[in-house]
Amino acid sequence: MELHELTIKQASEKLARKEISSVELTQAHLSRIKQLEPKLHAFLYVAEREALDGAKRADQLIAEDENFLLTGIPYAVKDNILVSGMKTTAASKILENFVAPYEATVIKRLGGIGSVVLGKTNLDEFALGSSTENSAFGPTFNPYDTTKVPGGSSGGSAAAVASGEAIFALGTDTGGSIRQPASFCGVVGLKPTFGRVSRYGLVGIGSSLDQAGVLGKTVEDAFLVLQQMAGKDESDSTCLPKELPDYSKFLDRGVKGLKVGLPKEYFAEGIEPEVKKLVEAAAKKLQEQGAEISEMSMSNASLPLATYHLILPVEISSNLSRYDGIRYGLSAAGENLSEVYYKSRSSGFGSESKRRIMIGTYASSAGYFDAYYKKAKQVQTLIKQEFIDAFTKYDLLLTPTTPTTAFSIGEKAADPLAMYLADILTVAANISGVPAISIPAGLSQGLPVGVQLIAAHFREEILLQAGHALEKALNFKLEPNL
Ligand code: GLN
Repeated sequence: MELHELTIKQASEKLARKEISSVELTQAHLSRIKQLEPKLHAFLYVAEREALDGAKRADQLIAEDENFLLTGIPYAVKDNILVSGMKTTAASKILENFVAPYEATVIKRLGGIGSVVLGKTNLDEFALGSSTENSAFGPTFNPYDTTKVPGGSSGGSAAAVASGEAIFALGTDTGGSIRQPASFCGVVGLKPTFGRVSRYGLVGIGSSLDQAGVLGKTVEDAFLVLQQMAGKDESDSTCLPKELPDYSKFLDRGVKGLKVGLPKEYFAEGIEPEVKKLVEAAAKKLQEQGAEISEMSMSNASLPLATYHLILPVEISSNLSRYDGIRYGLSAAGENLSEVYYKSRSSGFGSESKRRIMIGTYASSAGYFDAYYKKAKQVQTLIKQEFIDAFTKYDLLLTPTTPTTAFSIGEKAADPLAMYLADILTVAANISGVPAISIPAGLSQGLPVGVQLIAAHFREEILLQAGHALEKALNFKLEPNL
């Protein structure tokens, strides 16, 4: 097995036994990046020097037995998460030269010194999109078929993990941005409960929806990372002081007796037949392992997407107001202050960011606030309640992650509504705040299909338990032909 094929689990065992060094492991990934980037463009910045420095420090820590499980494991970071001293662009021209002055909590928790950041990955500008085509620095290409999108907005992170450029990657998920690209690229994508992981040091868009999470090769790997980065943080008051379970205890618990609901609305119109078939086959596998599978109904399933596209833009219009040409990033010259604002924002933001800012400003302006934003917040309560009720009867819900496999580059780029529909199965978990994971279910005409598992608030361990059992039962390894 080559070094770039290792999981976190395997690599950390080899590091601990001193069979390999972190420097070797890091060099293997850096050369993989060199070889594949012309094809994939998963990275906006490759941190060769920083990664090798980190690897040397990691090897020292390992030699001194000062290490923990993730020490020396090279990983990639979505470019809307602050790594101190590295540029953080959020794939926007407006932040093209912005160097992070501090470290996001998630990065600190993954090791600070002794942590090996391979680089910053591509995304849709400000994480707004489902294909990574909205990046101001050009799209990322799907490792399974480079004429297809990798999904978005964490498309760079998903492509990097799928292709073996990184052992794992961090992403953010506001409406599906970890799970949807994970599904398109055949990797595992975990979005924790809102409040499980600190948002300090993320480039915020939807402060009530954003959550950092993991793109990894296996369910176990994703939870090894979550274990390390989750938990209360003084710097983010929405990050809750909930007890963090020891996830390793849940890995092999199996699914015997777990009640799994298949919401029929998530298997209805618009889902590609082959996607449906593979996801139903995955449900069957869980049943064979002893889970109790039943069809059920989430009657509000048509509401989350519209609700999301009101709540998020309102939060965006507020969060993105800080990019004004004065405080951060790009500043265009003007005769007076409002001209500086106007010119900086007009030339700095891409069209999707502008679209969301306008929708959000409209929906929250005097005279429209009650009809749009307030209404959306009321509907959000309904949606959330339906999930809470469902989880009194079921341990898990199982759905496809996306209605289709990866679409072609350019196919939806000019049609925002068609693009928004790509998130129809993922946004509900953000609107209600519950945790969800996408796990590879197989290939349809050479392209990966993902199955989504959703659990109750702060019950991520059930995703681990069922996800690991599902992986074992499906027993395949997806590999792009690169
Ligand atoms: N694709 C969704 C959107 O365009 C989700 C974005 C995200 O999760 N950051 O809003």
